[in-house]
Amino acid sequence: MINARLYALPSTGLFMPTTAHAIAAFAPDKPLGPHTIARRDPGPKDVAIEIQFCGICHSDIHFLRGEWGEIPYPAVAGHEIIGRVTAVGADVSKYAVGDTVGVGCLVDSCRSCPSCAEDLEQYCTNGSTGTYMGVDKHTGGPTYGGYSSSIVVDEDFVLRIPSNLDLAGAAPLLCAGITTFSPLKTWGVGAGSVVGVVGLGGLGHMGVKFAVAMGAEVVVFTTTPGKVADAKALGAHEVVISTDEEAMGRQAGRFDFILNTVAASHSLDPFVAALKRDGTMVLVGVPAEPHPSPSVMPLIFGRRRIAGSLIGGIKETQDMLDFCGEHNITSQIEKITRDDINTAHERVLKSDVKYRFVIVM
Ligand code: NAP
Ligand code: ZN
Ligand code: ZN
Repeated sequence: MINARLYALPSTGLFMPTTAHAIAAFAPDKPLGPHTIARRDPGPKDVAIEIQFCGICHSDIHFLRGEWGEIPYPAVAGHEIIGRVTAVGADVSKYAVGDTVGVGCLVDSCRSCPSCAEDLEQYCTNGSTGTYMGVDKHTGGPTYGGYSSSIVVDEDFVLRIPSNLDLAGAAPLLCAGITTFSPLKTWGVGAGSVVGVVGLGGLGHMGVKFAVAMGAEVVVFTTTPGKVADAKALGAHEVVISTDEEAMGRQAGRFDFILNTVAASHSLDPFVAALKRDGTMVLVGVPAEPHPSPSVMPLIFGRRRIAGSLIGGIKETQDMLDFCGEHNITSQIEKITRDDINTAHERVLKSDVKYRFVIVM
């Protein structure tokens, strides 16, 4: 909800902040708690959104705990946002008041560099603006994410949600969805591909759903035996317990593509060995501690590759949402209230989530 106007920014007078009720971190090692933040009034190209649902991504936890570097506190995370449009600026053409929309990991970029010109704003060479973890171009202050009652975003960074999708279940598509969809598309996964998905968490379970929908043969690698039945229910053809050395040995040379979503430092070697000649493993997890250096021989003998991938651009995010609409794909979620956020973060750290928490704002 857009609340009472606080004050006009003396610098421009154009953007008049309003208050939003957020859940913020105040220190890396303290529980999150209520906080009031300012949101700018919508400028000509802006869309004001009342947030209904926000997913909890493991990145929120890495960020709020300062695992990726020092951050300014109070900090507000959340980049899997679904909400309703409450106001639009005079020049907004794509959205109207009352529309259901989404906001993912990006709220701005330079729009002129080669990456932006190719709809790859996540790789903007001048630095895209994160929904959190960024600097708001309008206010000069930090961006605040979706653990909040409202947000104001340029219409070019707002997504349309297919009307057949459950809205809470659609929230995680905005990060977990696009982060797994994009590398599967980039590396041409389809019918005939043999795909491994490492780690069955928020990202991993979306990776399984997408790879199955794209027609691949899908094998899940998990450290949690209790997730085997779930992986199969999600469509995986086979599940391997990745801590079982013998079972891992039997996977040697099998995979065209492996999507590694693990959020913690681990040995990459058993997964490299599981790739075919010319196979690629894409890392999307960003652990606080680096992985041990992979052995070079298995990469050389087999021309295998380890690559990385960052979320996805706005156009591809819309393509992913439309794909989800066509295939009726949403995230498997557990809904929580604002009061449950700290418990939910602890459970994510214990890999005890099936398979994404979504805050009902
Ligand atoms: P998550 O829900 O916590 O899932 C991570 C999974 O990794 C866990 O469910 C667990 O699966 C496995 N795992 C956890 N600790 C492990 C360990 N010590 N050894 C082996 N496996 C372990 O996290 P998420 O939200 O999916 O995010 C995953 C990672 O991707 C995070 O680092 C996040 O920051 C990052 N991320 C990156 C991007 C990007 O653009 N590249 C975007 C979003 C998130 P099992 O129980 O099945 O083993
Ligand atoms: Zn995320
Ligand atoms: Zn750019």
